[in-house]
Amino acid sequence: MYIDSHCHLDFPQFKDLPDLISSCSEVGVNEFLVPGTTEGSWSSLIKIRQNYPQIKIALGLHPYFLNERVQLDQAMQKLEHFLGYGSVVAVGEIGLDKWPNMPDYHYQFEVLLEQLRLAKRHNMPVILHARKSEDDLLKAIRMLNFDRGGVVHAFNGSFDQAQRFINDGFVLGIGGTVTYPRASKARRVLQALADEHFVIETDAPDMPLCGYQGQPNSPIRVVEVAEQVAILRGQSVEAVAQYTSANLQRVLPNWYKVK
Ligand SMILES: [Zn+2]
Repeated sequence: MYIDSHCHLDFPQFKDLPDLISSCSEVGVNEFLVPGTTEGSWSSLIKIRQNYPQIKIALGLHPYFLNERVQLDQAMQKLEHFLGYGSVVAVGEIGLDKWPNMPDYHYQFEVLLEQLRLAKRHNMPVILHARKSEDDLLKAIRMLNFDRGGVVHAFNGSFDQAQRFINDGFVLGIGGTVTYPRASKARRVLQALADEHFVIETDAPDMPLCGYQGQPNSPIRVVEVAEQVAILRGQSVEAVAQYTSANLQRVLPNWYKVK
Protein backbone atom coordinates (compact mmCIF):
# COMPACT_ATOMS: atom_id res chain seq x y z
CA MET A 1 0.00 0.00 0.00
CA TYR A 2 2.83 2.44 0.80
CA ILE A 3 6.09 2.79 -1.09
CA ASP A 4 9.09 4.51 0.48
CA SER A 5 10.50 6.14 -2.65
CA HIS A 6 13.87 6.94 -1.06
CA CYS A 7 15.65 5.06 1.72
CA HIS A 8 19.22 3.87 2.14
CA LEU A 9 18.63 0.33 3.33
CA ASP A 10 22.23 -0.59 2.45
CA PHE A 11 23.58 1.74 5.17
CA PRO A 12 25.11 0.12 8.28
CA GLN A 13 22.25 1.38 10.50
CA PHE A 14 20.07 -1.33 8.95
CA LYS A 15 21.65 -4.48 10.28
CA ASP A 16 18.65 -6.79 10.15
CA LEU A 17 16.99 -6.20 6.82
CA PRO A 18 14.59 -9.20 6.90
CA ASP A 19 13.28 -8.04 10.28
CA LEU A 20 12.90 -4.43 9.10
CA ILE A 21 11.09 -5.48 5.93
CA SER A 22 8.66 -7.65 7.87
CA SER A 23 7.88 -4.87 10.40
CA CYS A 24 7.30 -2.53 7.46
CA SER A 25 4.95 -4.96 5.75
CA GLU A 26 2.88 -5.24 8.96
CA VAL A 27 1.93 -1.57 8.56
CA GLY A 28 1.53 -1.73 4.77
CA VAL A 29 4.93 -0.43 3.66
CA ASN A 30 5.54 -3.01 0.98
CA GLU A 31 8.02 -1.53 -1.46
CA PHE A 32 11.18 0.53 -1.31
CA LEU A 33 13.50 2.38 -3.64
CA VAL A 34 17.13 2.30 -2.53
CA PRO A 35 19.44 4.66 -4.45
CA GLY A 36 23.18 4.22 -4.80
CA THR A 37 25.73 6.57 -3.26
CA THR A 38 29.28 5.50 -4.11
CA GLU A 39 30.89 3.23 -6.67
CA GLY A 40 31.45 0.74 -3.85
CA SER A 41 27.71 0.58 -3.10
CA TRP A 42 26.68 -0.66 -6.54
CA SER A 43 27.48 -4.35 -6.33
CA SER A 44 25.95 -4.67 -2.85
CA LEU A 45 22.78 -2.99 -4.12
CA ILE A 46 22.59 -5.43 -7.02
CA LYS A 47 22.86 -8.21 -4.44
CA ILE A 48 20.15 -6.67 -2.23
CA ARG A 49 17.90 -6.41 -5.28
CA GLN A 50 18.42 -10.12 -6.02
CA ASN A 51 17.55 -11.10 -2.46
CA TYR A 52 14.56 -8.83 -1.85
CA PRO A 53 11.90 -8.51 -4.55
CA GLN A 54 10.31 -5.66 -2.54
CA ILE A 55 13.41 -3.50 -3.04
CA LYS A 56 14.02 -1.60 -6.27
CA ILE A 57 17.37 0.07 -6.79
CA ALA A 58 19.00 3.00 -8.56
CA LEU A 59 22.73 3.31 -9.13
CA GLY A 60 24.78 6.48 -9.25
CA LEU A 61 27.36 8.73 -7.62
CA HIS A 62 25.91 10.92 -4.85
CA PRO A 63 27.50 14.41 -4.74
CA TYR A 64 27.92 14.30 -0.95
CA PHE A 65 30.32 11.35 -1.22
CA LEU A 66 32.55 12.72 -3.99
CA ASN A 67 35.36 13.63 -1.62
CA GLU A 68 37.87 11.16 -2.89
CA ARG A 69 38.01 11.92 -6.56
CA VAL A 70 36.71 8.95 -8.46
CA GLN A 71 38.22 7.91 -11.79
CA LEU A 72 35.23 9.25 -13.64
CA ASP A 73 35.73 7.47 -16.98
CA GLN A 74 36.23 4.17 -15.24
CA ALA A 75 33.28 4.72 -12.90
CA MET A 76 30.98 5.58 -15.83
CA GLN A 77 32.04 2.39 -17.64
CA LYS A 78 31.30 0.38 -14.54
CA LEU A 79 27.94 2.11 -14.11
CA GLU A 80 27.08 1.40 -17.72
CA HIS A 81 27.99 -2.25 -17.19
CA PHE A 82 25.69 -2.48 -14.14
CA LEU A 83 22.83 -0.72 -15.96
CA GLY A 84 23.03 -3.54 -18.51
CA TYR A 85 21.91 -6.05 -15.83
CA GLY A 86 18.32 -4.85 -16.27
CA SER A 87 17.74 -4.66 -12.52
CA VAL A 88 17.94 -0.89 -12.07
CA VAL A 89 14.95 1.50 -12.23
CA ALA A 90 16.90 4.79 -12.41
CA VAL A 91 20.30 6.44 -12.31
CA GLY A 92 20.76 7.95 -8.84
CA GLU A 93 21.17 9.43 -6.61
CA ILE A 94 22.94 12.15 -8.50
CA GLY A 95 22.87 15.90 -8.12
CA LEU A 96 24.36 18.97 -6.53
CA ASP A 97 24.90 19.89 -2.90
CA LYS A 98 25.71 23.52 -2.14
CA TRP A 99 25.98 23.10 1.65
CA PRO A 100 29.22 24.34 3.29
CA ASN A 101 32.17 21.91 3.20
CA MET A 102 30.78 19.83 0.36
CA PRO A 103 33.01 18.51 -2.45
CA ASP A 104 34.09 21.07 -5.06
CA TYR A 105 30.95 22.37 -6.76
CA HIS A 106 32.38 22.45 -10.28
CA TYR A 107 33.46 18.85 -9.88
CA GLN A 108 29.98 17.95 -8.66
CA PHE A 109 28.58 19.59 -11.78
CA GLU A 110 30.93 17.65 -14.06
CA VAL A 111 29.99 14.33 -12.43
CA LEU A 112 26.30 15.23 -12.65
CA LEU A 113 26.50 15.97 -16.37
CA GLU A 114 28.29 12.68 -17.09
CA GLN A 115 25.60 10.74 -15.26
CA LEU A 116 22.76 12.63 -16.94
CA ARG A 117 24.33 11.86 -20.32
CA LEU A 118 24.58 8.18 -19.40
CA ALA A 119 20.95 8.10 -18.20
CA LYS A 120 19.81 9.75 -21.41
CA ARG A 121 21.74 7.27 -23.53
CA HIS A 122 20.12 4.38 -21.64
CA ASN A 123 16.68 6.01 -21.72
CA MET A 124 16.53 5.99 -17.91
CA PRO A 125 15.03 8.42 -15.41
CA VAL A 126 17.15 9.86 -12.59
CA ILE A 127 16.88 10.37 -8.83
CA LEU A 128 18.11 13.89 -8.06
CA HIS A 129 19.65 15.19 -4.86
CA ALA A 130 19.18 18.95 -4.47
CA ARG A 131 20.41 21.13 -1.66
CA LYS A 132 20.37 24.87 -2.39
CA SER A 133 21.04 23.83 -5.99
CA GLU A 134 17.61 23.59 -7.66
CA ASP A 135 18.31 26.28 -10.30
CA ASP A 136 21.65 24.71 -11.23
CA LEU A 137 20.02 21.29 -11.59
CA LEU A 138 17.38 22.79 -13.87
CA LYS A 139 20.19 24.38 -15.86
CA ALA A 140 21.96 21.01 -16.27
CA ILE A 141 18.69 19.38 -17.40
CA ARG A 142 18.19 22.11 -20.01
CA MET A 143 21.82 22.03 -21.17
CA LEU A 144 21.51 18.35 -22.08
CA ASN A 145 17.85 18.42 -23.11
CA PHE A 146 17.38 15.67 -20.57
CA ASP A 147 13.79 14.54 -21.03
CA ARG A 148 13.56 11.24 -19.13
CA GLY A 149 12.43 12.89 -15.88
CA GLY A 150 12.50 11.10 -12.54
CA VAL A 151 12.28 12.18 -8.89
CA VAL A 152 13.68 15.27 -7.18
CA HIS A 153 14.19 13.68 -3.80
CA ALA A 154 13.58 15.62 -0.54
CA PHE A 155 12.38 18.60 -2.54
CA ASN A 156 12.74 21.80 -0.56
CA GLY A 157 12.59 24.48 -3.24
CA SER A 158 10.01 27.10 -4.17
CA PHE A 159 6.71 26.49 -5.95
CA ASP A 160 8.19 28.10 -9.07
CA GLN A 161 11.12 25.64 -9.03
CA ALA A 162 8.67 22.77 -8.43
CA GLN A 163 6.71 23.85 -11.48
CA ARG A 164 9.85 23.90 -13.64
CA PHE A 165 10.88 20.40 -12.54
CA ILE A 166 7.34 19.17 -13.24
CA ASN A 167 7.49 20.69 -16.73
CA ASP A 168 10.70 18.71 -17.27
CA GLY A 169 8.97 15.43 -16.39
CA PHE A 170 9.87 15.12 -12.71
CA VAL A 171 7.87 14.42 -9.58
CA LEU A 172 8.90 15.86 -6.21
CA GLY A 173 9.91 13.70 -3.24
CA ILE A 174 8.06 14.78 -0.08
CA GLY A 175 9.56 13.54 3.20
CA GLY A 176 9.86 14.28 6.90
CA THR A 177 10.34 18.03 6.44
CA VAL A 178 6.58 18.59 6.19
CA THR A 179 6.06 16.99 9.62
CA TYR A 180 7.70 20.06 11.22
CA PRO A 181 5.19 22.86 11.91
CA ARG A 182 7.92 25.45 11.30
CA ALA A 183 8.44 24.21 7.73
CA SER A 184 5.77 26.60 6.48
CA LYS A 185 7.28 27.10 3.01
CA ALA A 186 7.57 23.34 2.34
CA ARG A 187 4.00 22.87 3.62
CA ARG A 188 2.64 25.63 1.36
CA VAL A 189 4.40 24.14 -1.69
CA LEU A 190 2.93 20.71 -0.87
CA GLN A 191 -0.56 22.18 -0.55
CA ALA A 192 -0.25 23.87 -3.95
CA LEU A 193 0.83 20.74 -5.86
CA ALA A 194 -1.56 18.60 -7.89
CA ASP A 195 -1.94 14.94 -6.83
CA GLU A 196 0.02 13.79 -9.91
CA HIS A 197 3.20 15.65 -9.07
CA PHE A 198 4.74 14.17 -5.95
CA VAL A 199 5.80 10.96 -4.18
CA ILE A 200 6.53 10.20 -0.52
CA GLU A 201 9.82 9.13 1.07
CA THR A 202 11.78 8.96 4.32
CA ASP A 203 15.46 9.24 3.26
CA ALA A 204 16.12 6.81 6.17
CA PRO A 205 18.39 6.64 8.09
CA ASP A 206 18.60 10.44 7.58
CA MET A 207 16.03 13.21 7.98
CA PRO A 208 14.17 12.15 11.16
CA LEU A 209 10.53 13.15 11.38
CA CYS A 210 9.27 15.69 13.91
CA GLY A 211 9.21 13.96 17.31
CA TYR A 212 12.02 11.54 16.41
CA GLN A 213 14.97 13.95 16.34
CA GLY A 214 18.26 12.31 17.26
CA GLN A 215 17.08 8.84 16.24
CA PRO A 216 17.89 7.10 12.98
CA ASN A 217 14.97 7.37 10.60
CA SER A 218 13.19 4.22 9.35
CA PRO A 219 11.19 3.45 6.19
CA ILE A 220 8.31 2.40 8.46
CA ARG A 221 7.69 6.13 9.09
CA VAL A 222 6.68 6.75 5.49
CA VAL A 223 3.21 6.02 6.91
CA GLU A 224 3.54 9.09 9.13
CA VAL A 225 4.71 11.17 6.18
CA ALA A 226 1.60 10.05 4.29
CA GLU A 227 -0.60 10.88 7.30
CA GLN A 228 0.86 14.38 7.53
CA VAL A 229 0.45 14.91 3.77
CA ALA A 230 -3.18 13.78 4.08
CA ILE A 231 -3.84 16.26 6.89
CA LEU A 232 -2.18 19.17 5.08
CA ARG A 233 -4.07 18.44 1.84
CA GLY A 234 -7.43 17.49 3.37
CA GLN A 235 -7.38 14.01 1.82
CA SER A 236 -7.57 10.46 3.13
CA VAL A 237 -4.29 8.70 3.84
CA GLU A 238 -5.43 5.83 1.61
CA ALA A 239 -5.83 8.22 -1.32
CA VAL A 240 -2.37 9.71 -0.70
CA ALA A 241 -0.80 6.23 -0.58
CA GLN A 242 -2.61 5.21 -3.75
CA TYR A 243 -1.79 8.18 -5.97
CA THR A 244 1.80 8.63 -4.77
CA SER A 245 2.52 4.96 -5.57
CA ALA A 246 0.98 5.40 -9.03
CA ASN A 247 3.08 8.54 -9.57
CA LEU A 248 6.29 6.72 -8.72
CA GLN A 249 5.51 3.88 -11.09
CA ARG A 250 4.70 6.39 -13.82
CA VAL A 251 8.06 8.22 -13.63
CA LEU A 252 10.01 4.98 -13.10
CA PRO A 253 8.36 2.88 -15.83
CA ASN A 254 10.60 -0.14 -15.23
CA TRP A 255 9.31 -0.53 -11.66
CA TYR A 256 7.61 -3.87 -12.38
CA LYS A 257 9.84 -4.88 -15.27
CA VAL A 258 13.23 -5.07 -13.55
CA LYS A 259 14.92 -8.38 -12.92
ZN1 LIG B 1 19.44 9.87 -0.27
